[in-house]
Amino acid sequence: MTIKKVHYNTSSTSFYFAAGFARLKDFIDIKHAVILVDENVFNLHTKKFKGWNVIVLKPGEQYKQQATVDSIITQLIQFNVDRKTFLIGVGGGVVTDITGYVASVFMRGIRFGFVPTTLLSMVDASIGGKNGIDVGVYKNIVGTINQPSFILHDHLFLKTLPADEWRNGFAEIIKHACIKDAAMFKTLEANNLKKYQSDKKLLNELIHRNALLKSKVVIADEFESGDRRLLNFGHTFGHAIENTYKLSHGQAVAVGMVMACMISEAYCSFKDTNRVIGLIKKYGLPVHQSYNAKKVIDVMKADKKKVKDIINYVLLQKIGKAVVMPIDVKEVENIISQMETKNLS
Ligand code: ADP
Ligand code: ZN
Repeated sequence: MTIKKVHYNTSSTSFYFAAGFARLKDFIDIKHAVILVDENVFNLHTKKFKGWNVIVLKPGEQYKQQATVDSIITQLIQFNVDRKTFLIGVGGGVVTDITGYVASVFMRGIRFGFVPTTLLSMVDASIGGKNGIDVGVYKNIVGTINQPSFILHDHLFLKTLPADEWRNGFAEIIKHACIKDAAMFKTLEANNLKKYQSDKKLLNELIHRNALLKSKVVIADEFESGDRRLLNFGHTFGHAIENTYKLSHGQAVAVGMVMACMISEAYCSFKDTNRVIGLIKKYGLPVHQSYNAKKVIDVMKADKKKVKDIINYVLLQKIGKAVVMPIDVKEVENIISQMETKNLS
């Protein structure tokens, strides 16, 4: 186990890397804690939760809604919790998002921590303090920025992680490599998914490196006015196709990264689109999706990250070096329309 304390503006998060779930009891009083976990993780790892107060949630993004928050709060009241209670989210991004949100608003805020159980949440979703819920189709439209007290990784959870979820995690890892870490990009090129799944040490190093890369970006810009926006690489187009074409988040981001690379060729003289495409394919992710330009543009226009008629597009100058480029919505519309026919051919 490696412990690392990361300091944000007004709070800090302790990381327990490659730890065991049982270590939680060393620093959390089990009588003053409640675990939130979804049915899948609870059923696959039931023994781990023995002795803990547990609230089991229905799995899936469709339950990341206010009704779930109300139901959790009712159960917390039934558990007789008070302001000293610790809320612990054990699961993927959906569970950690809800946990951080409930903990931020319940009794005006109680302490909380995460045990991410998907690769994606270990390297991305659990880090950075953004939490919240969806309202209808509007993703993450309600929420707060509030850092967890701790994040504990237990790799045994990954033993039951479905293959698709492994690939989703790698989409964000490739994203990190593209925007900030050319050396990691090379390492990823030299390895493959099977190797990471079978080599514990290699996987530990990769998770550790990605979690710290993300925290570093967040520390520099907790409230997303500068560098944190780079983490949106692949996400502008990605979010616009994710729901419409029923892609997983990782698949959508993968296609979004390819789109961003192609735009980077025009705006930043980026030369390595083929290397990015090669790496995305290597980790079992798609590089192409047929789409209807009008539909995609409509979703993009509704994006909460859009400012007036400008979309801040994250582009690559080279592998490991990203920039934010403000592009006029009209211009983006042209590009997406042109690429529509290109992509379909
Ligand atoms: P993320 O946003 O991190 O991808 P989600 O919360 O959407 O995560 O979880 C993705 C799916 O994987 C959910 O169905 C969840 O129940 C399931 N899941 C999470 N962790 C594990 C695990 N360790 N083993 C098996 N399934 C898991
Ligand atoms: Zn993402």
